[in-house]
Amino acid sequence: MQNLLEALVAKHRPAAREGKVAEYIPELAGQNPDLLGVAVVNPQGEMHAAGAYRHRFTLQSISKLIALMVALMDHGEEVIFSKVGMEPTGDPFHSLYKLEIASEAKPLNPMINAGAIVVSSLIRGKSVDDRVKRMIHLVREMAENPEIDLDRAVYRSERETADRNRALAYFLKGCGVIDDVEETLDVYFRQCSICVDCLDLARMGLCLAQNGVTLEGKRVIPEDVARLAKTFMVTCGMYNASGEFAIRAGIPAKSGVSGGILALVPGRMGIGVFGPALDKKGNSITGVRLLEDFSKKMGLSIF
Ligand code: GLU
Repeated sequence: MQNLLEALVAKHRPAAREGKVAEYIPELAGQNPDLLGVAVVNPQGEMHAAGAYRHRFTLQSISKLIALMVALMDHGEEVIFSKVGMEPTGDPFHSLYKLEIASEAKPLNPMINAGAIVVSSLIRGKSVDDRVKRMIHLVREMAENPEIDLDRAVYRSERETADRNRALAYFLKGCGVIDDVEETLDVYFRQCSICVDCLDLARMGLCLAQNGVTLEGKRVIPEDVARLAKTFMVTCGMYNASGEFAIRAGIPAKSGVSGGILALVPGRMGIGVFGPALDKKGNSITGVRLLEDFSKKMGLSIF
């Protein structure tokens, strides 16, 4: 396994040249595009990792999974899915398009920005800080790493430049779907800036692979909530490339624009990948290729 991971990093790292780091969040624009790291953890606690697996990065869209799970624990399925749908969109993650043409302003799913902003508005807590702390707490529990925290520079950088997300949020407010734009976006930007490395992601993936039970055996997510999160990973986790990824890799995965991908094989392993050069759809170009190759070589597809 160790040799395989090292060979995969060496093989796929050059593809970074074909991608580009996210530039619309200025703080992410400075990331080194050539980094590529991977970590894999299995239920026996065996861990293998290669490349830049200790490099830290922000969750970005991977946090949409965390927010969804906390909101589901707060309110249950019925409330959440009365406000946000369950269908893939085929549109880019920050698109306004479907929101406006739909008969009701109900974002199509919680993995696109509009849906995630609605989900963030539903997280319970006395203050923004309190609500974000609850998400950080879940990430720490899943990864069994109490050190995990926010990257404040990335948070501030996104908050200052997030015109598109503000447009989405004002549209949602105009339709009566959310109340307070700045407060909701503050929750959303902070959750996006939770900072991890590939090992954290791999342990988080393992927790989902075990239906909400951590490597050390602690249940931190109810089974039905973990199942729901994994289903969204398959149908909507890789933006509007989720169908292609399901065919080529066949494993639940969620990516973010910082270049991270949280992936898993049910009952077998958690996988964390980081490669900040993105393809046109916003997925890590090297990360996707590495995962597809890894899945084929190991026969991991769930289908
Ligand atoms: N914070 C990012 C945004 O809202 C997350 C997007 C992503 O990772 O897809 O634009």
